[in-house]
Amino acid sequence: VIPYSRQNVTEEDIESVVKVLRSDFLTQGTVVSEFENALAEYCHSKHGIATSSATAALHVACLSLDVTKDDLVWVSAISFVASANCAKYCQADVDFVDVDSQTGLISVSALDKKFQVSKRLPKVLIVVHIAGQSCNMKAISELCERYKVRVIEDASHALGGRYANEPVGSCRYSDMSVFSFHPVKPITSGEGGALMTNDSGLAKRARLFACHGIERSENSLVHPKSGEWYYEQQILGFNYRLSDIHAALGLSQLKRLDLMVSERAELAQYYREALADLPVECLEMLAYSQSAWHLYIIKVDPGIRTSLFSFLRQNGFGVNLHYMPIPSQPYYEELGAKASDFPEAIAYSNSAISLPLFYGMNIEVIDQVVFIIRKFFTTNSSIS
Ligand SMILES: *Cc1c(COP(=O)(O)O)cnc(C)c1O
Repeated sequence: VIPYSRQNVTEEDIESVVKVLRSDFLTQGTVVSEFENALAEYCHSKHGIATSSATAALHVACLSLDVTKDDLVWVSAISFVASANCAKYCQADVDFVDVDSQTGLISVSALDKKFQVSKRLPKVLIVVHIAGQSCNMKAISELCERYKVRVIEDASHALGGRYANEPVGSCRYSDMSVFSFHPVKPITSGEGGALMTNDSGLAKRARLFACHGIERSENSLVHPKSGEWYYEQQILGFNYRLSDIHAALGLSQLKRLDLMVSERAELAQYYREALADLPVECLEMLAYSQSAWHLYIIKVDPGIRTSLFSFLRQNGFGVNLHYMPIPSQPYYEELGAKASDFPEAIAYSNSAISLPLFYGMNIEVIDQVVFIIRKFFTTNSSIS
């Protein structure tokens, strides 16, 4: 089966991991901070904090913004469930914002309208750069500034993408951005994530939350240092650190990021041309945004989506759906969410299919995928 996405690991990647394995420090050595600095430099952001996953980074982001049980967090209705769960870890209430069905990205007009009609405003808005394409952050940040709402970018799909001539992760229009280094994502560290920010106060809190709430630096202590051994637990934190083994893989992969993004962009362009004469739409591309091309998502008539999806699976292509609306998940239904409040998210979710796209994928795979899609429409010509 050809998956919708997969990692690319070179001998050089393996060597860099082996080097850590032969060294004195498997964790809490120097490689994590090298990786953090390289990410910050790549993204043009002031601080990078590596974490054990993007889910951990999202939790830390909410904690750092002081999200508590008294708060409300708004989340884009189309995403992986982790984008919303981070707020529930803080016992906050979660509500959703509808998307634009042409892009799967949060709809700025739906957001604007929701602000106007809502009696209770959120403390934080979490937006998601679906498939690697940035949301319209400038418009989102203008609205959120007006209503004094903080913004977290879930950029799990978008490392290597650009928005308004800045790398995604620059946090030019947000408080924090989060990346994932799970093997299907733009680069991998095995498991891993990172949180980027330009705010030194937030960075300091995030680091504390990600490492047990333990402070060691002398000028931040509550009590006088009583000896070389001294440290303080100041808040209730977690063990969300990344290990040096993971960071070595991530750092080595980061060197190839631009190459990987440009190859995925070429593959995406090939898809677009090969699909042009079929009753298949590609996601709308926005002028200000350069996608990292994490996913290649097509949209088809909802009446045939499920059967085309199965036909592709039967023919050996591990297509997938990114995503069902989060408010349709039983956990969120139980909390009172109703997917029917988000019609565009439903429309998007009922028509989307993610086709195989990854660095190192043979271009002939695209010919085969398109051949199967064409065959589907020819044998079902009454509905095409
Ligand atoms: C993968 C993903 C996550 C979670 O990433 P992990 O590193 O696996 O925790 C969160 N949000 C989105 C949008 C994702 O795609």
